Amino acid sequence: MRKQFAVIGLGRFGSSVCHELNEMNHEVLAIDNDEQKVDKLSKHATQAIVADGTDEKMLKNIGIRNFDHVIIAIGEDIQASILCTLILKEMNIKQVWVKAQNDYHHKVLDKIGADKIFHPEHDMGQRIAEFLTSEKVIDYIDLSEDFSIIEIIATKKVIGKTLAEMDVRAKYGCTILAIKHSKGVNVTPNADETIKEGDLLVVIGHKNDLKRFQRDGI
Ligand code: ADP
Repeated sequence: MRKQFAVIGLGRFGSSVCHELNEMNHEVLAIDNDEQKVDKLSKHATQAIVADGTDEKMLKNIGIRNFDHVIIAIGEDIQASILCTLILKEMNIKQVWVKAQNDYHHKVLDKIGADKIFHPEHDMGQRIAEFLTSEKVIDYIDLSEDFSIIEIIATKKVIGKTLAEMDVRAKYGCTILAIKHSKGVNVTPNADETIKEGDLLVVIGHKNDLKRFQRDGI
């Protein structure tokens, strides 16, 4: 289904969000107070306009109320990011997602009702560190402070074994959600499924359990 999004702030983060949403064929309204940024992005949005995200009157005039989902990617200017969030939440926009610069910014955004808060640089740093410290892990999603999903390469240690033989849940407290192989993805695989060379396992669990599994179980 085609959805409507507005993105305020077209720096590196905001513009790449616009690009992706546009590629996915959603309707994207892109806003920045810098004309050059707007010009650069105009090809990758349904509409791109030069405007200040803290100007309440202007936001009303462009009909931002009709958008269910607004992403605020104003970078350095924390005050503008907070004010823009406040205005949009007061207008009852359902989903206001905001890029935070630091923990203080995050706290304020949380207090004033931001529905999702991103730390792209920090998250990317964490992901890269995770990859650097394990050659087996090829992707990683943080679900919360304690839980993650990892995508891990099946090694010689498990190739030829069935899931029942691996017994990951009893031994490590993790669950294998899916097995990816060249022909596709097997979601919720059976216990008698045999791991083959080149398979990738998608595993969910507590971070400590996943670490033990990475170290000793595969
Ligand atoms: P990034 O780290 O994602 O590149 P930047 O700080 O470089 O972030 O970019 C933030 C963008 O937000 C810039 O393009 C800037 O012009 C825009 N911006 C800053 N303040 C406002 C505002 N009040 N209204 C609209 N856009 C803004």
